[in-house]
Amino acid sequence: MNLKKLTDRGLDLLYPPSLYCSCCGNLIDESRTYNLCDHCMSHIRWEGGEPEERDGMKAIFCTRYGIYERSLIFALKYNGKKYIARDIAEIMSDRLSLENAVIDAVVPVPLHPEKEKRRGFNHAALIGRHLGRKVGAPCIEHGLLRTEDTMPMRGLSPVERELNVKGKFIVNEKWTEQMKEKKILLIDDFYTTGSTARECFRAIEAARPKEVWFMAFAVR
Ligand SMILES: [Zn+2]
Repeated sequence: MNLKKLTDRGLDLLYPPSLYCSCCGNLIDESRTYNLCDHCMSHIRWEGGEPEERDGMKAIFCTRYGIYERSLIFALKYNGKKYIARDIAEIMSDRLSLENAVIDAVVPVPLHPEKEKRRGFNHAALIGRHLGRKVGAPCIEHGLLRTEDTMPMRGLSPVERELNVKGKFIVNEKWTEQMKEKKILLIDDFYTTGSTARECFRAIEAARPKEVWFMAFAVR
């Protein structure tokens, strides 16, 4: 174990999830919904609109992208605060029940194996595992594969985003039977131009699922 990991672990012990707001770090008591303080709860722009038809999928979003929503995801993704995955899964699970959506399996948007190794985890898969447990559906963590390490989408134009991910996802042959004729929920952190979601949908179609829903924590 390297020093960084030790420090991270130390920080996790110093800031256990139930005592500090997952978004801003303020002190909270254990009863707070999603481990968020009142301030963050009221500033997060919750999204409760009807599911939208997007590229063959039913898309649902939990929040509108802004600084609070970004802080939460970045703390998980780049600061390794893995316990936030559980909070986000809880938010997603509540959002799903708002739609009375019953799903058969959760499939997270994959990272390229190299990137996953560098980061140590795939944040979408972490969320997916918790979400699967909550809704009683398996999380098919490697149902989709990313065939190339793509550039970060941040700062790219819509056209560049499209080209960046085009054809970079395939369905994992090992799991096609588990996805066939099933109602699949694809999950990701953000939805911006939809190019990643679209490419994942194209790839997952090869497994001939019954229906594909897409859910992102935040939509721009
Ligand atoms: Zn807060």
